[in-house]
Amino acid sequence: MVVKDFKVMTLNPPFHPKFSRSSRSPAVSKGGCVYYPIWIGYTTGVLEQNNVPVKLFDAPAESRGLEESLHIIKDYNPDLIVMDSTTASIANDLHVANEIKKILPDAFIVFVGTHPTAVPFEVLKSSKNVDAVALSEHEHTIRDLSFALRDGKPVADVAGLVYRTTNSKGEEEFEISPKREPASGEELDKMPFVSEVYSRHLNIKNYFYPSVLYPEVTIITGRGCPFRCTFCVYPQTMGGHEYRVRSPENVVDEFEWIFENLDVKDIMIEDDTFTANRERINKICDLIVERGLQDKVTWTCNARADVDLDTLKNMKRAGCRLLCVGFESGEQEILNNVKKGTQLQIIRQFMKDTKKADVLVHGCFMLGNKGETKQTIRTTIEFAKELEPDTAQFFPIMVYPGTEAYDYFKKEGLIKAESYGDWLDKEGNHNTIISRPGLTDKELVELCDRGRWEFYMRPKYVLRKIWQGITHPKEFPRLLKSSKSFFKYLLLGSESVRTN
Ligand code: SF4
Repeated sequence: MVVKDFKVMTLNPPFHPKFSRSSRSPAVSKGGCVYYPIWIGYTTGVLEQNNVPVKLFDAPAESRGLEESLHIIKDYNPDLIVMDSTTASIANDLHVANEIKKILPDAFIVFVGTHPTAVPFEVLKSSKNVDAVALSEHEHTIRDLSFALRDGKPVADVAGLVYRTTNSKGEEEFEISPKREPASGEELDKMPFVSEVYSRHLNIKNYFYPSVLYPEVTIITGRGCPFRCTFCVYPQTMGGHEYRVRSPENVVDEFEWIFENLDVKDIMIEDDTFTANRERINKICDLIVERGLQDKVTWTCNARADVDLDTLKNMKRAGCRLLCVGFESGEQEILNNVKKGTQLQIIRQFMKDTKKADVLVHGCFMLGNKGETKQTIRTTIEFAKELEPDTAQFFPIMVYPGTEAYDYFKKEGLIKAESYGDWLDKEGNHNTIISRPGLTDKELVELCDRGRWEFYMRPKYVLRKIWQGITHPKEFPRLLKSSKSFFKYLLLGSESVRTN
C-alpha cells in the first residue's frame, strides 16, 4: 500500500544533554565538546535530494529530554524514524524506541551507527520495537528503505539491512538483505554538502570542538582508513579500510559555500585520516589558494604523524590551522601492539616539521592499550611533554564491539562491565571498563588525570598560552572557552577518580 505524505525523521535520540553520539568515543565530554550528528546529517541530505520530506532532530545538542522530544516527534508524525545509536547509549536508545512506538505504533524504526552495525541481531532481539538495522554507511540504504516503505514494496529488497520478519509458522526471525557496497568517490561527490544540511536543520552555535575555533562546522571529504589500529571503531564498523574520497573540486566548492553562507571561523574535516592521500591534499590546498579562500576561513583535520614538511607548508598556506593527531603512546612496543603502523622517530620528526610549518597540533594519547603498564604510561606522559603539541588529551582506552581491541580484552577477561551502560558514569562521561592486575581501571583514570595535569600545568606551557592569546587574537575566544571547560575538566577528572 502506498503511504501518502510519507516523511522521515533522522533522530539523534534524547540522552544526557550534550552527549556526542558521532564521536569516536561517544560520551558527554568534560571538555565541553559537542559533535554534529554527522552521519544522519548526510542521510538527511540524501533524502532531501530525493524529495523525501525529512526532519533532522538532534535532541542532546538542544538539551531536550525524553518527554519534550516525544512531543516533537509526535507533532512531526514521521512514518520512518532513523535512530543513531552507540554502545554507551544503546540501552537508553532502545528505551526511546519503545516510548516512540507507544505514541506512534505504525512508525518504522531503523537503528543506525557503530553499535547496531557491530551487533545487529543483538539489537533487534533487545527490543521488538526496532524494525531493522541499517548497516555501516547508511545514506543510500535509508533512501531505498524510504522508497520501499512509501511505495508499499518489500524491505527485503533494500540492500544493507538486517530486518525483523516472521516465517511460515508465524515465528519471529531476522534476515539479512543483500550486501550494500560503500559509496564510491563519485557517489560521495553527488551527495549534498552536509554543511548545507546543518544550516537548514540545526543551530550551529550548539556545536563545539575545544581545539577548533568557535563556531565551527564539521564535514567529511572522504571515508574509510587504510590503517588498522585495533581500537579504532569507525573503519572497523562504518567506513572500512579503503579511503574513498570526494574530488578536490567538490571539497573546495563546499569550502566556498561555507564561506559564503555560514558564520563560522573554522572547518573541521572529520575524515578518519585526511592526510592519507598526499597528492589529493596538495591539490585541495592549491585549489583553496587559487580561489583565494585561504584567508577567509581556517580549517582543521585529523592527521597521522607522518605528513612531510612540504605538504605541511602547503596546508598552512591554504589556511590549515590545526591537526588532530592520534599519537597514542610513547612506547614503540605499545604502538606495535595496537598496529599503529608508525615509529617514534617518525613522530618526533613530524612534530619538528609542524613547528617549522607553524601548524598547531592537538595530540591524543590513549592509555591502557594491550601490554600497557604504569611504567609505559609514565614514558608516554614524558613523550607528550617532549613533543609539546599545542594541546593534549590523555584518555583511558575505550573499547567497542566490532573492534579487534574489544575482542582481545573480552577474550582476556579484562572487561569489567556488567552492561553497556557501564561505558559511562552517571553524568554520561567516559568510564573506562578495562581493568587488569597491576593497572586497574581506577589507576588508569588517575594516570590520565596526572598526564593532563603535568602537561598543562607546566609554567612553560601556561606562558606559551598567554603569549598565544596576545599574539593571535583570533585564538583568544577559543582559549577562553577551552580554559573554562578545561579547569572544570581537571577538577571533575579528579572527582571521577574518587567516585568510580
Ligand atoms: S590511522 Fe587513525 S583513523 Fe585510521 S585506523 Fe588508525 S586511529 Fe583509526
